[in-house]
Amino acid sequence: MKYDVIIAGAGIAGASAAYFIADKGFKVLLTDVKPFDRAGDKPCGDALGKHHLDELNLPYPQGSELEGIVKGIDIYSPYEDMKYRVLGEGFEINRVEFTKRFIKAAQDRGADYLPETQVMKPLVKDSKVMGAILWSRNKGSWEVSSRLLIDATGMSRALVRRLPADWPIRDEVRPQDTNVAYREIRKIKEPPEEPEILRIYVSKEKAPGGYWWFFPYSLKDGLVNVGLGVQGGKGYPHPKGQLYKVINERPEFRDSLVIESGGAAVPTRRPINTLVWEGIAVVGDSAYTVNPIHGGGKGSAMLSSWCLSRALEEGPSSDVWGTNDLWGTNKCYMERYGAKQAALDIFRYFLQELSDDDLEYGMRKKIIKEEDLNTVSLKGDLELTIVDKAMRLLAGLRRPSLLIRLRGVAEYMNRVKQLYMNYPDKPSELNDWVKEVKNLYNEFTAKILK
Ligand SMILES: Cc1cc2nc3c(=O)[nH]c(=O)nc-3n(C[C@H](O)[C@H](O)[C@H](O)COP(=O)(O)OP(=O)(O)OC[C@H]3O[C@@H](n4cnc5c(N)ncnc54)[C@H](O)[C@@H]3O)c2cc1C
Repeated sequence: MKYDVIIAGAGIAGASAAYFIADKGFKVLLTDVKPFDRAGDKPCGDALGKHHLDELNLPYPQGSELEGIVKGIDIYSPYEDMKYRVLGEGFEINRVEFTKRFIKAAQDRGADYLPETQVMKPLVKDSKVMGAILWSRNKGSWEVSSRLLIDATGMSRALVRRLPADWPIRDEVRPQDTNVAYREIRKIKEPPEEPEILRIYVSKEKAPGGYWWFFPYSLKDGLVNVGLGVQGGKGYPHPKGQLYKVINERPEFRDSLVIESGGAAVPTRRPINTLVWEGIAVVGDSAYTVNPIHGGGKGSAMLSSWCLSRALEEGPSSDVWGTNDLWGTNKCYMERYGAKQAALDIFRYFLQELSDDDLEYGMRKKIIKEEDLNTVSLKGDLELTIVDKAMRLLAGLRRPSLLIRLRGVAEYMNRVKQLYMNYPDKPSELNDWVKEVKNLYNEFTAKILK
């Protein structure tokens, strides 16, 4: 049988892609190695900003999909002397129920769903992907043809990894552009104060290159999601051991009960150079759509799937959707999120270099104010005026070099963002654009970080 679209992976990216694409009337096959009752069950902090759903016109989580309401986030300085409160509405979701919603909605629109089925490899003929080989315990392996194969297999990128090395969609992630995280869901004795506020603790000593978090499920008395992430590729200690150091020294976790535990990695870099190529596309973690600063990836995974579904509307111009047919996916994603992601990637490089003393100092002196932090986080804009204002106010204080570097960071964030907003109009311009991106990153690293 020939499908219009085969999707490997029914996490939030693949499941939402199945829904968006089946909704346009295409014949979809969605598969996952996991069974239905574990759909979307990647270890997660489970936080989802409301704005992601508003943007895609999706209903808010409700009933069994909802674990808590979020009103804002407190960000604590390394020595916890300072706290920034960033207000913003969102949810703590039940990731499995929330993902199942999309699978069911896709099935209602005619999609076929095969749980416990692995997509083994893409079928490449005449430099195009024409289908895939599937495998299940009951059936063994078999071939299925498609006009488009979507790799939504998360960080493993199980299909694109098997494509020819010179296909730009291979664009591989460096270990230092990942974050390795471990989290537990715990029942604590005393329900936290202000359960609708999430807490993030930035500390190079405890969570090098990342942070540790305490996210209450406000609708589930005393249930909290607590985890810690460290930058990959640096030889930092395992996040589980680091998290236990935190948990063991804090009274709020005394006599708490572990309900669930697990760890995983996320890409925390700018988006992939192209989400599409001949007969194949990537969405979600496979396309590096995660926010480089806070590591949230569910909202942007859904956005990448939505952008792809829009590009499919006109149908393929030949037997498969070719790169030209699919190119609108890149423009859509880069303009709506990728450009901000790339700017935040620059900010991440800078933050990961700072010492705890620098961070404590920066937050105490409010070099970037709470309200400005909101703009940085929502838009990826660190406006030069903000930094210039801080430089005037803080002239003569310690650490002028911190401010000078921050000014450089703001400049490069703006330049990178512009480059992504001007993403190439056609595939033939991709190579030159990628070179420009690399040059800009190299220049930033040489001038500002060193
Ligand atoms: C500890 C931690 C905390 C996080 N906290 C948050 C948070 O609070 N908020 C947020 O928004 N994001 C968070 N993230 C990131 C978020 O979890 C991911 O960005 C998101 O789940 C990615 O979804 P995905 O569908 O792309 O990938 P995945 O969820 O990894 O799904 C991939 C799916 O593909 C399947 N698969 C793999 N190989 C094959 C194959 N060959 N054939 C068929 N199926 C296959 C897998 O079984 C899996 O179901 C966190 C991540 C971690 C690790």
